[in-house]
Amino acid sequence: MDIAKLTIDGIRSGLKAKAFSARELCDAALAFAGAENPKTNAYLMLSEARARAAADAVDAKLARGEDAGLLAGVPVAVKDVIVTKGVRTTCGSRLLEKFVPPYDATAVERLEAAGGVVIGKANCDEFAMGSSNENSAFGPVRNPVDLERVPGGSSGGSAAVVAQGTAVVSLGSDTGGSIRQPASFCGVVGVTPTYGRVSRYGLVAFASSLDHIGPFGRNVRDTAALLEAIAGRDEMDATSAFAPVPRYAEAMTGDVRGMKIGLPKEYFAGLASETGDLILRGVEALKKLGCEIKEVSLPATEWAISCYYIICTAEASSNLARYDGVKYTLRSEDSGTLAAMYRNTRGDGFGAECKRRIMLGTYVLSHGYYDAYYLKAQRVRTLISRDFQNAFGEVDALVTPVSPFPAFKLGEKLDDPLAMYLSDIYTITGDLAGIPCMSVPCGTASSGLPVGMQILTNHFQEAAMFRLAEAFERNGGVDAA
Ligand code: GLN
Repeated sequence: MDIAKLTIDGIRSGLKAKAFSARELCDAALAFAGAENPKTNAYLMLSEARARAAADAVDAKLARGEDAGLLAGVPVAVKDVIVTKGVRTTCGSRLLEKFVPPYDATAVERLEAAGGVVIGKANCDEFAMGSSNENSAFGPVRNPVDLERVPGGSSGGSAAVVAQGTAVVSLGSDTGGSIRQPASFCGVVGVTPTYGRVSRYGLVAFASSLDHIGPFGRNVRDTAALLEAIAGRDEMDATSAFAPVPRYAEAMTGDVRGMKIGLPKEYFAGLASETGDLILRGVEALKKLGCEIKEVSLPATEWAISCYYIICTAEASSNLARYDGVKYTLRSEDSGTLAAMYRNTRGDGFGAECKRRIMLGTYVLSHGYYDAYYLKAQRVRTLISRDFQNAFGEVDALVTPVSPFPAFKLGEKLDDPLAMYLSDIYTITGDLAGIPCMSVPCGTASSGLPVGMQILTNHFQEAAMFRLAEAFERNGGVDAA
């Protein structure tokens, strides 16, 4: 077996033909991940014992002739902001360096119930704040395509392990683009489902009204299978949706004739670059497959970055208040007074980006500024959602770039937080509107770096999004143009 190229379908047929057992696959995946990890630092830890137990359970089911599930034997990596019972979960932060959660996130529980094998925890930006994975307290992740470059963030580890082949699929989280941007930078598929499609129970909160858990894979079908396994109502998360979960595989027919695709003009204006050219070639390919292409307008786009960085910092400042040295792991001792203990713990424990967000968020929520910033941003958020609703009155899906540029060099944007924030310009609107969106590989730039195309559909229309992406992929992506 070529472990770096395995797909879920390949594993299913390999297990059926007894070419390998789930345990053999698990051992091979753990060994490969251990050997490759020094190159990228994409795993923070491997969960060997848990993985072997899960793989043995799959083998036992198969031996009894039972259905071992949609993800039977599939090695999965989990972003380290998603809690795993008995397996350290750090959120990329010194504050949680020794935190061992007493429970599993619902998404993890469900993927294991479907036969998935959690082989390790993926590195990420501290508390998922960042666009390059350079904000992890445990060192940056390197992009497997070019080790001098960032893998994107904040789910950089989750994207890198799939690109590198040390996991077949992975879970990431997306608040403002953290699944789609790293997927685009590493040349893999990344999906942000509708807000509420996947339970957030056990996802360590960054900005609760924007946080999503979603899958990465080397092809569209694999991400659809992982999403199907983890999606659906969960009584532990009141914002999780009751909408039934479709069988996504049935939607991927390859037939997208007559599908109406909108190109938001605000996303293409000023994109006179190789990235823009590749996306337009991707659009040509969709046209050849029978899609109708139409220009649409999302006029509130120009305020999206400001709106996002007000709302996410406001929610982050409130969510991160729980790390005070009393609960969880880090506590600065010998502080003298209680207030000093809080201050010292937070001062020592949080990295620079978290501190920046906590200060910004506290400011925009403070008395006297609340109306001017936070309330205003909430109103702008409504305008952004309305723009999408208007567009989906005319078209079935939208196609845009994921990032204005391919993967940048390590250190290139580290001293300029605003430049870093601008990498999120095309991805944050989808999160603000809560609609499903994904990145699908759309060729490579002359530098050899991958470029991702973003597809967005209306709430709960993941099936249509997968159909379009899979038809594009099946027909050779940009090469079909
Ligand atoms: N890069 C964005 C930020 O730093 C998005 C992060 C995310 O989606 N978790 O906020």
